[in-house]
Amino acid sequence: KWLGTQDIIKQTEQFGANNYHPLPIVISKGKGVWVWDPEGTKYMDMLSAYSAVNQGHCHPDIIQALKDQAERITLTSRAFHNDQLGAFYSKVAALTGKNMVLPMNTGAEAVETAVKAARRWAYDIKGVQENQAEIIVCENNFHGRTMTAVSLSSNTEYKRGFGPMLPGIKVVPYGDIQALKDAITDSTAAFLVEPIQGEAGVIIPPDGYLAEAATLCQSKQVLLIADEIQSGLGRSGKRFAIDWANIVPDMYILGKALGGGVMPISAVAGNDDILGVFEPGSHGSTFGGNPLACAVSVAALNVLEEEKLVERSLELGHYFMEKLKTIQNPIIKEVRGRGLFIGLELTEPARPYCEKLKEKGLLCKETHEKVIRLAPPLVISKEEIDWAFNQLQAVLHQG
Ligand code: PLP
Repeated sequence: KWLGTQDIIKQTEQFGANNYHPLPIVISKGKGVWVWDPEGTKYMDMLSAYSAVNQGHCHPDIIQALKDQAERITLTSRAFHNDQLGAFYSKVAALTGKNMVLPMNTGAEAVETAVKAARRWAYDIKGVQENQAEIIVCENNFHGRTMTAVSLSSNTEYKRGFGPMLPGIKVVPYGDIQALKDAITDSTAAFLVEPIQGEAGVIIPPDGYLAEAATLCQSKQVLLIADEIQSGLGRSGKRFAIDWANIVPDMYILGKALGGGVMPISAVAGNDDILGVFEPGSHGSTFGGNPLACAVSVAALNVLEEEKLVERSLELGHYFMEKLKTIQNPIIKEVRGRGLFIGLELTEPARPYCEKLKEKGLLCKETHEKVIRLAPPLVISKEEIDWAFNQLQAVLHQG
């Protein structure tokens, strides 16, 4: 039986745990930057599933790789080798310039992996006293929703009712180099940072901050870990957002667009002097490195290269942002971003504006209450940006 939007929402809400507050729209089909509801109404996706769909919805090359691989073998577990994992490793190693890769599934799992690697490295290599290792993170970070990830968080709502939290975590203000310097001790294993804070509202650190942090970490024998789950893979107009600072972290954490919005796949990339701390039995995942996800990921990374999505993001992001800055309305506090990773900060809650934009066919989701995040699939065209801009202008322009 065919179900319409209202029926589907009712059906979804009947048994679903209430941990999300979606806009009242059902998406049943997608292609590139466009999605359709069951009634056939077309919308432009300005969220890209939190940057997991950088390559666009249902990219034909990625779907073909999915189909081809699904007909051969989908899951072997790591009890055996599979014939796709090696190619995936080579691809991620080449992309990151690192010589070791550890595959997981979701972003939060990759964050867990990086934290485990850093802690073990601190004990085995740096010589930190047992159970004393510390991880430094930034205020307003977002590293996911597992117990480790919420322990890293400074947001009380993310933590409420879930204690006790993981110990050994220090939080410092984002962008404050002196605070980082003061927080580092002989027991510090790592500084874990988002080179651009996505969930916090597309927050770009002050010029020089990441480079100074890298120098500081190196001088104090502290690992620099870049969480590029949202900001990486072209979103910011560079391969990784940390490239804006011209530095190389000790570990990259990747996820989201690594699977082209088709399969969950995440990874930590680092050199063997760090990731070499894992030996058989120390870490793992039943689905991590599965051949279906690996084949999809290789195709997703190929699309990024072949369609020059990094360059596209840089160029079109600049174009979009300049246009957005022309919208006149005192409620617009700031338009900021890098590449097609743009935050439009208002002086009032963004949700009602997101609802109005939805009525105009533009799907945006507020973040941190007052920010409209504009992060379309990177395959977006200039004409499509013009169309998106017209809708934004219609809703936000005053006078
Ligand atoms: N880290 C960052 C920077 C993220 O943006 C996210 C997701 O939004 C995560 C980690 C968690 O990823 P996942 O939801 O796949 O666990």
